[in-house]
Amino acid sequence: MSFFKPNAPQYKFNKKTLKYEKVEYTFWYRFKGVLRFIFTSALLGFGFFLFFIFILPSPAAKKLQKENEDISSQYEILSRKLDQALEVMDIIQERDNNFYRVMLEADSIPYLLRTGNYKATARYDKWDDYKTASLVKTTTEKMDKLNRMLYTQSNSFDELVVLAKQNEDKLLHIPAIQPILNKDLKRTASGYGRRIDPIYKTIRFHKGMDFSAPTGTEIFATADGVIEKISWDKTGYGNCIVINHGYGYSTLYAHCHKFQKGLRRGLKVKRGDVIGFVGSTGKSTGPHLHYEVRYKGKHQNPQNYYFMDLSPEEYDNMVRISSNSSKTFD
Ligand SMILES: [Zn+2]
Repeated sequence: MSFFKPNAPQYKFNKKTLKYEKVEYTFWYRFKGVLRFIFTSALLGFGFFLFFIFILPSPAAKKLQKENEDISSQYEILSRKLDQALEVMDIIQERDNNFYRVMLEADSIPYLLRTGNYKATARYDKWDDYKTASLVKTTTEKMDKLNRMLYTQSNSFDELVVLAKQNEDKLLHIPAIQPILNKDLKRTASGYGRRIDPIYKTIRFHKGMDFSAPTGTEIFATADGVIEKISWDKTGYGNCIVINHGYGYSTLYAHCHKFQKGLRRGLKVKRGDVIGFVGSTGKSTGPHLHYEVRYKGKHQNPQNYYFMDLSPEEYDNMVRISSNSSKTFD
């Protein structure tokens, strides 16, 4: 059957008359044919439309997909970089709370106040439908956290600047330089914390920091103060000097080869004065200076007390060197 009126006339065999008769097409018959044709074409067209839209991606869709993949991997890189920045920020906060703020008698700032608790908020829920929801959410959360930490830290420093101005005398009496010349940090030997004892080979808590240096290298007072002890120490420190700086601080310099001439108990010293010379006296495995800082009788990590001496980069470097070395000179 054809939808169209054929050009040539069509004939049909009539069984009753036994004749071939010309077929006359009515208008309605033709109209139905045209309708059927339009309907079938539309259906086919729609089918192709669906196929191209949903099955075959268009060049624009392909480009978008590629773009999405690139953005996702860039997000991953950013997220890792943010992790590194957050780690550095953690160290700065730690120093701020446990050292700078303690030194200037300001209350420490609670961790949660510094970082905020963005996880508990609904601010990232709007991306829940994304395929990359968790990546976008965690990266944004890290950025928010870092921003908040920087803001809090900057406020803390502003506050500390004011406090420092009010405490000028006190700052002269807080250990703030390295006890020997060590600008290039090559003399940094071993840090504070659990280390292997160089003689007994057991793990022991190292209460100070070791600086390796040739015998006779000058040793400096690291802050203003009064000589409290300048004598031979029987417990292993050898020729040993202790300076009382007041405000709860004292420093100890062990294994000296010699003391500075004229130095005696009760004498006032200034930061940077030469008080003795590096040696290897007492329990020691080679010429070095063992340096301790105490606050209210408690041992402190000396690496927090070089803030007049070292830039942040040099400081990081020193921390790295002194924590990598597992062996002390004692
Ligand atoms: Zn030591």
